Amino acid sequence: MPYNQRMKYYEVAPTQIVRSGADSFTYSSEQTLAIGQLVRISVGKKLMNGMVMRAVAKVPSYAVKPIEQILEARPVPEEYVRLSEWLSQYYMTPLAVVLQTLLPSGLHKNRRNKDISSSVKIPKRTHFLLNPDQQSALRAINNASAGTAILHGITGSGKTAVYVELVKQTLATGKSAIVLVPEIALTSQVVAEFSSHFEHVVLTHSRQTEAERHSVWRSVLTADAPQVIIGPRSALFLPVRSLGLVVIDEAHEPSYKQEQSPRYHALRAAHFLTEQSKAKLILGSATPTVVDYYLAESTGRPIVTMEHLAIKNAHKPSVQLIDMTKRTHFKRHRFLSDAVLSQIEQDTGSGKQVLVFHNRRGSAPTTLCENCGWQAGCPNCFVPLTLHGDAHELRCHICNFTSNVPTSCPQCSHASIIHKGIGTKLIESELKKLFPKLSVARFDGDTAGDQTVEQRYKELHDGSIDIIIGTQIIAKGLDLPKLHTVAVVQADAGLSLPDYGAAERTFQLLAQVIGRVGRRPHDTNVIVQSYQPTHPVITLGLKQDYAGFYELAVEQRRRSHFPPFTHLLKLQCAYKTEAAAIRNAKDLADQLRRTLPPDVQILGPTPAFYERAGGHYRWQLVLKSPKRAYLQMAVSQLPPAKWQFELDPISLL
Ligand code: ADP
Ligand code: ZN
Ligand code: ZN
Repeated sequence: MPYNQRMKYYEVAPTQIVRSGADSFTYSSEQTLAIGQLVRISVGKKLMNGMVMRAVAKVPSYAVKPIEQILEARPVPEEYVRLSEWLSQYYMTPLAVVLQTLLPSGLHKNRRNKDISSSVKIPKRTHFLLNPDQQSALRAINNASAGTAILHGITGSGKTAVYVELVKQTLATGKSAIVLVPEIALTSQVVAEFSSHFEHVVLTHSRQTEAERHSVWRSVLTADAPQVIIGPRSALFLPVRSLGLVVIDEAHEPSYKQEQSPRYHALRAAHFLTEQSKAKLILGSATPTVVDYYLAESTGRPIVTMEHLAIKNAHKPSVQLIDMTKRTHFKRHRFLSDAVLSQIEQDTGSGKQVLVFHNRRGSAPTTLCENCGWQAGCPNCFVPLTLHGDAHELRCHICNFTSNVPTSCPQCSHASIIHKGIGTKLIESELKKLFPKLSVARFDGDTAGDQTVEQRYKELHDGSIDIIIGTQIIAKGLDLPKLHTVAVVQADAGLSLPDYGAAERTFQLLAQVIGRVGRRPHDTNVIVQSYQPTHPVITLGLKQDYAGFYELAVEQRRRSHFPPFTHLLKLQCAYKTEAAAIRNAKDLADQLRRTLPPDVQILGPTPAFYERAGGHYRWQLVLKSPKRAYLQMAVSQLPPAKWQFELDPISLL
């Protein structure tokens, strides 16, 4: 029939899971559609959004439903269609789940066009010429072929200016550039820097509403001119038409790994996307991950270094290490050393800022009885509860269980309850007591929405905040002109975690937080307190000695057989009883040992680091394999529902 001959057929992937194992279905259309076209389809009795994955040449032998509606005249560029398939296969995640991450939700909704231009206050930036370090970095990157390059520049070496120049060059060739930044905390500053160079910058962040996101996404999809995009990891998925450059700033940051499904790593996704587009991928960091650095070295990709501070006559800070086991350093306060307190007095007396860094929220990690040893723990998760002194409650940082702060011991009734350990809220209240006249501000995961770094950027920048207290949120990227001293309350706090990345994370944080000072032509100080002052990770971190740390870490990874020397898979099950969790974990381990190649190492079962969560017992297996494909074989054997998996986990906690 002539009608049928005009009919075309397409495989369409719905953005909702229809049934497991089936990612796309065939539909008909009278119009010719493009790959990447977004359409509305009916599945069963439901209407869903979907993306055209490919044309079907052969007329199907079964009845096929028509496509109901075309949602966007312009298709998503084919690179992104291929990216979605790749993510789905590489991370063994249903395509529908990938598309939910890749595409804005509510694609079919008609929205009023919103003004989405950024509302960031832009401080005037002085323009400068690139210094010799920056120029040679730029030359090296330009001389390299398309693909990945590491820009390894010490904190304060002026990497941002190099990014700006690369983006300018990219726009000049008619292509778009995407700049990823670790999280919202940073966007205001990078955006300010970029906005002073480019007329129009597309900005995304996690607090945008569904409508705002949709609107930003549409503006990129429909744009004819090349785009400059800045945002967190998901900004990678804005559908630019001709991608020339992806920059990943602070590329070592764990926030580039998504913790929910699809558990992708933005660096891997960016690698695939830039390969498809023959674009450049720049990984910028003062402390590249051991894995990235090793991969670049062993594949011969360029590692471009910048070893000098960008600002002329900038002084490196003077660094002082305080041994916390020597109580003579703590005459005035039990965990804020005399050196830190007198430095605060000296600095704030002359209008300068102090940053007090500690990577732990709350007031105290443990509440315990000095008489009998009872410890306040979460009944669901078996981890210590954290004291939140301001709200007078104990809180579990995993499941949010809360309870009152006991005045006497629930076990022995003694009134010997103490709060041991240090958290940012405790530091805040202690400093406010010690310095009632100063402006003290805390920034961490508990900070209220109107008190974030972004909201208070001006006060941070102009020095009206005297003492800044913060976790890793404040450690990275920020450039604070009034900052004179950085104090690290307990540098070894993270070293005791049972994780292969603990040393690397501790080193990175130390190097980053020290890098907040010593960027300008005046003297600055770093005071680091630690219970383990001679630990090599602490001493190398203090010196910001990346080469020394890398050498140490790569040897340890080689010997202990961790990435980059193996592929990792973490499997976790959750059962109502501990016995069931152990039995099932053992059964799976046995099955995997029988079916997988012998060079796959199966560790465990062991209780997960967070052993109990949401009333369930969690046990885990860790698999190490010379081939990633073996791990995918293991995933495909998982009994559904009770098991969760993570390929390439960056932490085993
Ligand atoms: P990084 O990101 O490498 O830690 P930044 O890009 O934040 O460093 O730059 C550090 C400081 O140096 C910023 O205040 C920046 O404005 C300044 N800067 C960068 N390049 C130059 C230059 N060529 N001349 C003078 N100042 C510069
Ligand atoms: Zn007791
Ligand atoms: Zn809990």
